[in-house]
Amino acid sequence: MNKIVAVKACKSCKRLVSEKICPGCGGRELTSDFEGYLFIIDASKSVFAQIIHASLKGEYALRVAK
Ligand SMILES: [Zn+2]
Repeated sequence: MNKIVAVKACKSCKRLVSEKICPGCGGRELTSDFEGYLFIIDASKSVFAQIIHASLKGEYALRVAK
């Protein structure tokens, strides 16, 4: 089972964060209303990273409520 420490998802880049500010894009709009879980190890090679437009490795939500 995956160890998930992040509790909220960034609304702009879908990154899962445990801080109050998204470390990926600096966004402050975070929500706990998200679905799915994705761990990207190498964003430049990951097909999933391209789909959700992720440029950094890390944890991402598949779907984030707007
Ligand atoms: Zn973000």
